[in-house]
Amino acid sequence: MNHDSILLGLIGEGISLSRTPAMHEAEGLAQGAATVYRRLDTLTDRLKGRSLTGLLDAARATGFNGLNITHPYKQAVLPLLDELSEQAAGLGSVNTVVISPDGKLTGHNTDVTGFSRGLEEGLPDAGMTEVVQVGAGGVGNAVAYSLVTHGVERLYVADLDPTRAQALAESINAAVGREAVTGVDARGIEDVIAAADGVVNATPMGMPAHPGTAFDTSCLTPRHWVGDVVYMPIETQLLAEAKALGCRTLDGTGMAIHQAVDAFRLFTGLEPDAGRMRATFLSLG
Ligand code: NAD
Repeated sequence: MNHDSILLGLIGEGISLSRTPAMHEAEGLAQGAATVYRRLDTLTDRLKGRSLTGLLDAARATGFNGLNITHPYKQAVLPLLDELSEQAAGLGSVNTVVISPDGKLTGHNTDVTGFSRGLEEGLPDAGMTEVVQVGAGGVGNAVAYSLVTHGVERLYVADLDPTRAQALAESINAAVGREAVTGVDARGIEDVIAAADGVVNATPMGMPAHPGTAFDTSCLTPRHWVGDVVYMPIETQLLAEAKALGCRTLDGTGMAIHQAVDAFRLFTGLEPDAGRMRATFLSLG
């Protein structure tokens, strides 16, 4: 694909702090193409009341190369697309839509591929027999799908809302065709973690507005690996305590950067420089 210019956007609500636009604009420019990445925030006066169908039609008509899709549209966009990647179809969630020159819309999920890539890079020898995930919201669904399609044999998922953990387990087990995920009680999760190889925090715990950790870290030992999806701050209380206990850790930046790296490749056909996109991401912190 040759590009004189690249036109991209992000459809979602409350997306003013997203670092994704800057990562794409800097990478496109570095590869010699004028690149514009628009925030299409449906909570703003400009777009209030616009339908998702209307926004997709407008993007297609005006020659956008692609769109990222975020909360609350990752499921709603599915029936509006012409094709889905294996990950997007399996998870039932799309965060990236590629718009072909003839207007065909193909949905992908680079949250899934991005988390996997971050894990491979950050913890290449992580034990994968039994893993625990705390948090079964939007990000948790992508992380769980990524874990069970990239080597985890048994995944235990807990959430303060047990119906969420249960629903996540059922939908992912149906998608992968095996009983890979079990919903478990968040109370007493430390005993399950103690027996596992690793644990991932997929709750907002650790952000300034949600201080603390989602579980008591005294259950961790040096043989555990510990991942966090939170990237503001990069070193959460969970990761600091895990490091102090001798665990290997994975912070939330890998997923946030690699979802954009994978989307840039899909949007443009150009090979992104992940190190450069990481530098852009970190420069915004
Ligand atoms: P969400 O609100 O959809 O889901 C969070 C889930 O965590 C909820 O189901 C909630 O019940 C559960 N939860 C909260 N506290 C808990 C606790 N103490 N124990 C057990 N469960 C608990 O949120 P989301 O969209 O899934 O996002 C989660 C976090 O992921 C965000 O706060 C953000 O920090 C981070 N995030 C990371 C990336 C990335 O690329 N690394 C991208 C987006 C968001």
